[in-house]
Amino acid sequence: MIQVQNLTHRYAGRTALSNVSFEVRKGEVFGLLGPNGGGKSTLFRILSTMMVPGEGRATVAGYDVVRDPAAVRRLVGVVFQSQSLDRALTVEENLRAQGHLHGLKGATLRDRMEAAMERLGLADRRKDLVEALSGGLRRRVEIAKALLHRPQVLLMDEASTGLDPSARRDLSRHIENLRDRDGVTILLTTHILEEADRCDRLVLLHQGAIVAQGSPGELRSRIGGDVVVLESGDAPSLAARIEQRFSMKPTVADGRVRVEIPNGHRFIAEVVEAFPGSIESVGLHKPTLEDVFVRETGASIE
Ligand code: ADP
Ligand code: MG
Repeated sequence: MIQVQNLTHRYAGRTALSNVSFEVRKGEVFGLLGPNGGGKSTLFRILSTMMVPGEGRATVAGYDVVRDPAAVRRLVGVVFQSQSLDRALTVEENLRAQGHLHGLKGATLRDRMEAAMERLGLADRRKDLVEALSGGLRRRVEIAKALLHRPQVLLMDEASTGLDPSARRDLSRHIENLRDRDGVTILLTTHILEEADRCDRLVLLHQGAIVAQGSPGELRSRIGGDVVVLESGDAPSLAARIEQRFSMKPTVADGRVRVEIPNGHRFIAEVVEAFPGSIESVGLHKPTLEDVFVRETGASIE
């Protein structure tokens, strides 16, 4: 449904995207996960036809975003990072204004508004002023607005930023509902691990380049066994001593030493005994997308 081929983009000499290629299949939720500055919004601007890429190409349902932007805009609904609602208007009034921009009116517009409000669970909030709504509800109104012209593809830039975990989960459920009930293809950007974990597939973006892609499960399974995280007053020195003693290659990120290892609990007992006094705390967990990112880049996401 979306094809991105060798996209490269620079702003005044600074590379924001570097040879990025991936494909989004029809009816999936696809995520772009990466820290701030990773290039997510740049890619989003190119796909939503707001900006022309330096090199490479991108198509939506076969339409080229540069040569055929009008066709792409008909197929795509867009939810921007910054909010785009009129807070002094009600939910319904915001949707109606957007419908008019698409040339919708009368019974057609009413039907589209009803359908969009029903899908996003907004029907009983239609008369509420946007300024009286919670952050999570506002995001849902943004999505309803983006769906009025019945796009096949929904693009969302950091839609859940600023929401608390429960509002975020709620938003994810609505997005999955759009996929399951309407077959909408969704591409979202995020720097939040839980949100990325709910995507069908994703790419990890770091400094404008893809460092890994696959389903969350596939990505996590690249790390065998457990992840052990050790805090120390001098993490680099602890890492060097572990490397020497246990002949393994720990990574140091955010002042913590990380080790990927089968049977982490056994390693913990050994490492604590080997370096008494050097370790301040010990943690053990199953691999997360953060671990995948740290392994591929040496940097952390959040
Ligand atoms: P993200 O959305 O993942 O945080 P962006 O695509 O916004 O990443 O930014 C990628 C890189 O491009 C960053 O280094 C950022 O500073 C730079 N950048 C983004 N927008 C502009 C711009 N309009 N002018 C110059 N540099 C920019
Ligand atoms: Mg951004």
